[in-house]
Amino acid sequence: MASEGPSPETIELLERLIGFPTVSRDSNLQLIEFVRAYLDEHAIASTLTHNDERTKANLHAVIGPSDVPGVMLSGHTDVVPVDGQDWSSDPFSMRRAAGACYGRGTADMKGFIACVLAMAPHAVGRELTRPIHIALSYDEEIGCIGVRRMIDVLEHAPVRPAFCIVGEPTEMAVAIAHKGKTGALGICHGVSAHSALAPTGLNAIYLAGELIAAIRAMQDELIAAGGHDPAYAVPYTSLHVGVIAGGTQLNIVPNRCTFEFEIRNIAKDAPGEIMARVRAQADKIVERHRGEFPDCRIDIEVFNEYPGLDTSPEDEVVAFVKSLANANDHIKVAFGTEGGLFQQRLGVPTVVCGPGSMEQGHKPDEFITEEQLGRCDRFLAALVDRLSG
Ligand SMILES: [Zn+2]
Repeated sequence: MASEGPSPETIELLERLIGFPTVSRDSNLQLIEFVRAYLDEHAIASTLTHNDERTKANLHAVIGPSDVPGVMLSGHTDVVPVDGQDWSSDPFSMRRAAGACYGRGTADMKGFIACVLAMAPHAVGRELTRPIHIALSYDEEIGCIGVRRMIDVLEHAPVRPAFCIVGEPTEMAVAIAHKGKTGALGICHGVSAHSALAPTGLNAIYLAGELIAAIRAMQDELIAAGGHDPAYAVPYTSLHVGVIAGGTQLNIVPNRCTFEFEIRNIAKDAPGEIMARVRAQADKIVERHRGEFPDCRIDIEVFNEYPGLDTSPEDEVVAFVKSLANANDHIKVAFGTEGGLFQQRLGVPTVVCGPGSMEQGHKPDEFITEEQLGRCDRFLAALVDRLSG
């Protein structure tokens, strides 16, 4: 198929969006106000839901009739930081070269948002019989935080969308599933002592070491006896420890050690059950030491979790989006999205399909090809056709 480029509007909008440095730790309000004003110009009303500090907002807009189910297009406005990355040019000033657009967020995922915004005026000009929802969130990159507030509102809407398309970069492949994720902090409390008298204390680093060894053994069990899903590169639920901190200097037995770990579960394994097993292991370790050290303790705090996405290949949304994308197959993706929350909390059948590749996401010199943006433009034009008349 001959590759056709994106519309000039898509490129222009992407350039504007990249110019807002919406790193998750900073405000996204300038971008949201820009989008709101743009939609307003085209007579599309939008509703914002803010964070407590009112420094960030989600935006929800509906094009077409709001009393019948339609299709929700979902994207996050925040991007990951560029700290410590070696960029060839300003990451927040879009650069075009050799058929690609460079900048932080071009692939993940302002490219999709630019295509959606470029499509909006065309959708307004048509008599849609079923609506298009635009759902833009904040704080996705730090654990799908912001979108939950929008979902709180959508939960009470009289009519929910029939389908949701999350436009994370899949190179316009139709993804029906991804793993869920639970992030947790283990806090080990031991008893300090002078290291010359080390055995009279309880070394918190040793407590952490014991629990980490137990977590590794659980990983082996999950590989041997847990669920398997060959559609994933890592076809089973994985456990991982990513950060550890404990001790102040060598001649002190440390009384505190913390570590962060995560569970990335396939649909067949319940993360709550796995977390319960980690807690049981922690209790066993503490039990062994409690006689001698009554204050010994291991606390486990879940600091973030989002559900996996698991849409049946037979679901109507899959055939619908495949037809728009001219795709015959579907895939499962390694990265997480807000899709699991839409599916779990709103019961909206959801797939992930968007331009660009996650190969470029989160990296220096992130880019999206114009060919991918053009494909997304045509995908959305096909959506407008399907929902009108
Ligand atoms: Zn993303």
